[in-house]
Amino acid sequence: MDIAIIGGGITGLTAAYELTKKGHHVVVFERDPVLGGLAHGFKRKGWDWSLEKTYHHLFTNDNAIINLIDELGIHDKLIIKRPITATLFTLKGEAFKGSPQIFQLDSPTNLLSFPLLSPIDKLRTGTLLAFLKLNPFWQPLESITAQKLFTFWGGSTSWRILWEPLMVGKFGEFAPTIQAAWLWARIKKRTPSLVYIEGGFQTFIQTLANTISLQGGIIYTNTQVMSIKKSTNSKSANLQIAYKKFRNNLSFDICHLSFDKVLLTTPSPIAFKLLPKVRSTMNDQQSTSPIPHLHAQVLVLETRKPILQDVYWLSITDRTFPFLAVVAHTNFMDKKHYGNHHLTYVGNYLPDNHPYLSMTKEQLLKKFLPFIKRITDDELRITNSYVFTAPFAQPVHQLHYSKRAPKLVTPIPGVFLANMDSIYPWDRGTNYAVELGQKAAKTIENL
Ligand SMILES: Cc1cc2nc3c(=O)[nH]c(=O)nc-3n(C[C@H](O)[C@H](O)[C@H](O)COP(=O)(O)OP(=O)(O)OC[C@H]3O[C@@H](n4cnc5c(N)ncnc54)[C@H](O)[C@@H]3O)c2cc1C
Repeated sequence: MDIAIIGGGITGLTAAYELTKKGHHVVVFERDPVLGGLAHGFKRKGWDWSLEKTYHHLFTNDNAIINLIDELGIHDKLIIKRPITATLFTLKGEAFKGSPQIFQLDSPTNLLSFPLLSPIDKLRTGTLLAFLKLNPFWQPLESITAQKLFTFWGGSTSWRILWEPLMVGKFGEFAPTIQAAWLWARIKKRTPSLVYIEGGFQTFIQTLANTISLQGGIIYTNTQVMSIKKSTNSKSANLQIAYKKFRNNLSFDICHLSFDKVLLTTPSPIAFKLLPKVRSTMNDQQSTSPIPHLHAQVLVLETRKPILQDVYWLSITDRTFPFLAVVAHTNFMDKKHYGNHHLTYVGNYLPDNHPYLSMTKEQLLKKFLPFIKRITDDELRITNSYVFTAPFAQPVHQLHYSKRAPKLVTPIPGVFLANMDSIYPWDRGTNYAVELGQKAAKTIENL
């Protein structure tokens, strides 16, 4: 079969790997100059390893991607560590002068010693978290919001102190509408130890791409698919793809190729533009409004001194801070791989039209630095900084999400859709991109 895969992120590459393994003729079309989509890494002069544009790690139970890494023969590249994750709270009251304090909250013992909750609130919160961790049934949690579940079982004080600021920081106005199944998935999945890949996720992406090529697949980068149409030429295959092959930033060639089947792995709004019929028929079937998405924006700071002393992941509950999380990558992986510089992400999820999305790096630095200085004792010696913004980076899991998620088999014969929106009850992640790519490949073969 001749199969086109649109999007060279992890879903598309996994599907291409599986289909070329079975002997199909596959062409991957990737709009960007590089493969990997949201998990793509960049490398600066003097660095031995790539760094993901947005913070990435795996959990030790991310079996689909770990098994694929094994199959590709690079299992020895996996690194397992238990970095410190913590939460920042700004303590109110005379004695504290509104000073930010960092508490490690990644184990039941840490929760027990957390000073901002009463013993009864700790007991209620601990019971709720244990229930979420042990309960295998997520479906009933689709019809109740995370806020309702948490306040009912964990208590409104714990919700207000521990979770609400993080939910509002991440989802903004959507926070009260997030389904409890999303919270269940976050708690259920988390493992204290985390996994990284020697050389960065790029090691995995490049090995996957090389194997696809060895299996006869073709990968086009700098190639943006513009439309998909039913071919009028009855002798050729069924679906005709028109694409722009960029020669440089300014010039491109318009080309056409025909295929028996097409797998779209782009975000849904792009897929719907390429094939409006997919959206209209889905909406007719499900009579639901489209899934909202958030942009991810990350400022990466390269510094001579660490911003966080030993914490890897710091969630910020103080909503006067202009960011949601500080992720000190070099408190997870050794700074020697990055020219002995400390690398720290400052991250946000933002709705469409948020003012930060149109700010320059300098404007963002000016806005963020006074707050970064509140969490570090050291003088910041920034040697470099980078800003990355990705649209459609987080689908919003509102009530009954599973009914709204796009279906793999679209109403158009031969066209399939598999992207981050298809993933539930889990929050998106590279592990699920691998699972989805494998499922898509199987379905394409069998239909
Ligand atoms: C801030 C952030 C942190 C994250 N942290 C983690 C983490 O710690 N661990 C983890 O496992 N996952 C993490 N993820 C999630 C993970 O990156 C994604 O789940 C995964 O990479 C999605 O892969 P995908 O192939 O489905 O989609 P994408 O990566 O979005 O790939 C889609 C591809 O389609 C291409 N494309 C779009 N339009 C066209 C077109 N017209 N023609 C051709 N190509 C097109 C895009 O360029 C892109 O490469 C994180 C994501 C974000 C945003």
